[in-house]
Amino acid sequence: MVKSGLCIGCGTCMAESGDGAAMHLDRYGQLKPDRSNNPAGFAELCPFSPHARSEDQIALARFGSARFYDSRIGRFEAAYVGHVLEGSFRVDGSSGGMASWTAAELLRRKLVDAVAHVVPREGDGERLFRYQLSRTAEDLRKGAKSRYHPVELSGVVAEMKRHPGRYAVVGIPCFIKALHLLSLQDPALRERLAFTLGLFCGHMKSTRFVESFAWQMGTDMNAVAGVDYRLKDPRRPANWYTAHLRLKDGSTRSKDWWHLVDGDWGAGFFQNSACNFCDDVVAETADISFGDAWVEPYSSDGLGTNVVIVRSPLLQALVADAVKEGRLELREVDSDFIVETQAAGFRQRREGLAFRLAWPRSGVQPRKRVAPAWKGLPAQRMLVYGLRSAISAASHRVFWFARTMKIPAAYIHWASAMLALYQGVTYSRGWIGKLVDGVSMRGRKRSKDEGSKDEGAGA
Ligand SMILES: Cc1cc2nc3c(=O)[nH]c(=O)nc-3n(C[C@H](O)[C@H](O)[C@H](O)COP(=O)(O)OP(=O)(O)OC[C@H]3O[C@@H](n4cnc5c(N)ncnc54)[C@H](O)[C@@H]3O)c2cc1C
Ligand code: SF4
Repeated sequence: MVKSGLCIGCGTCMAESGDGAAMHLDRYGQLKPDRSNNPAGFAELCPFSPHARSEDQIALARFGSARFYDSRIGRFEAAYVGHVLEGSFRVDGSSGGMASWTAAELLRRKLVDAVAHVVPREGDGERLFRYQLSRTAEDLRKGAKSRYHPVELSGVVAEMKRHPGRYAVVGIPCFIKALHLLSLQDPALRERLAFTLGLFCGHMKSTRFVESFAWQMGTDMNAVAGVDYRLKDPRRPANWYTAHLRLKDGSTRSKDWWHLVDGDWGAGFFQNSACNFCDDVVAETADISFGDAWVEPYSSDGLGTNVVIVRSPLLQALVADAVKEGRLELREVDSDFIVETQAAGFRQRREGLAFRLAWPRSGVQPRKRVAPAWKGLPAQRMLVYGLRSAISAASHRVFWFARTMKIPAAYIHWASAMLALYQGVTYSRGWIGKLVDGVSMRGRKRSKDEGSKDEGAGA
């Protein structure tokens, strides 16, 4: 899986090893399993394995009697847009605070003993975040916010197996799928994994994303103590992301993503290659999942607004009660609304995935719920998908070169040229845009709407 570019670094195959030591960062800053000898049942356990159950199969077994089904977002009881009203969940969270609120509510109602989620990691090193089991609301609060940073599950899974109890786990779609696949093989985990809380996902980044922030803010990684990928500012639209670094000398640095050479999410800088073969945008196997409402008027509300998909009837009752009690501000929406908030993500994981699957490749062949297809795709869309894949793959290597040679400018110049090319092709920006439009004549045909959506291919 690693050699085939299909390992996301979830760590579930190394869960038996216990303490997370079996996962290491490779030279590109991505987590990979240490051992080459796979555990028993590996082919059915790895979330990107062609022999593992699909999201559809897992969701059918878990939510077979759900009220609604939509092939894009799976089975569900209800979907909402809104935010948390009580406490400081919204202010503390990346979006509307619903992920941390749900985790805290599960603890408060004693439905779980602990929640596995991602918190800042103490000490030196490139790994700035890690999974932790939190047992109090205060510990949960420390974990709020999105971390576009490699983390892995082996340590918390081992802990869940060692200590009987009921657990909830927060994770991106492939991690939640991996947990359900592991549960199928492990009765103890199956019994203890009480709730899965999914995060919608655009793609996963390597550790180099933060290192690049540091370079572009005039410092280096050794000086960085912590990062907030999305500093919240209620006075600015939610989708104007600001990266914020806390340095070891006590000072801070910030920069808006659009001033960073790799800050256009859609361009795919530092994307894990396995994400090229993902078809689950909204964590279809999770009991509940959360994303950002990337449509107006919500994307202009700097306090942040969630979209939420509830699949477990128990969680549906819990959310509905809290709405009645005035603790949550949620409005029910349909699947089209949810898909619209993630338009670029769906295009990349449906049309784009079909196109990528049609390319010849060596190694393990992924098996997806989308059939390979490239015919009928406009030339400009093919160019966008091709460019995105090329930027993802090359960004790891160019950054490695610049880092090894200690010449950050080599990466920054390359990345800004790639950004101009990508934005020219995708949004008709600058002279490259005029040139591409002129060649393809697409300027006249292309819908305005299509251009704007890839800009929001965000996290
Ligand atoms: C890699 C990544 C890509 C994403 N892509 C998209 C996207 O394309 N579209 C979209 O709408 N939303 C995306 N999200 C989700 C979005 O960023 C918010 O996390 C989500 O809207 C929940 O916000 P909240 O305010 O409710 O969460 P909060 O209250 O801030 O709580 C977030 C919870 O998630 C946990 N967490 C943070 N990072 C990770 C991680 N890497 N792995 C596991 N748990 C984590 C935290 O510990 C915390 O418990 C992405 C998240 C990640 C981590
Ligand atoms: S189970 Fe996870 S860490 Fe192991 S090979 Fe598959 S994706 Fe990589």
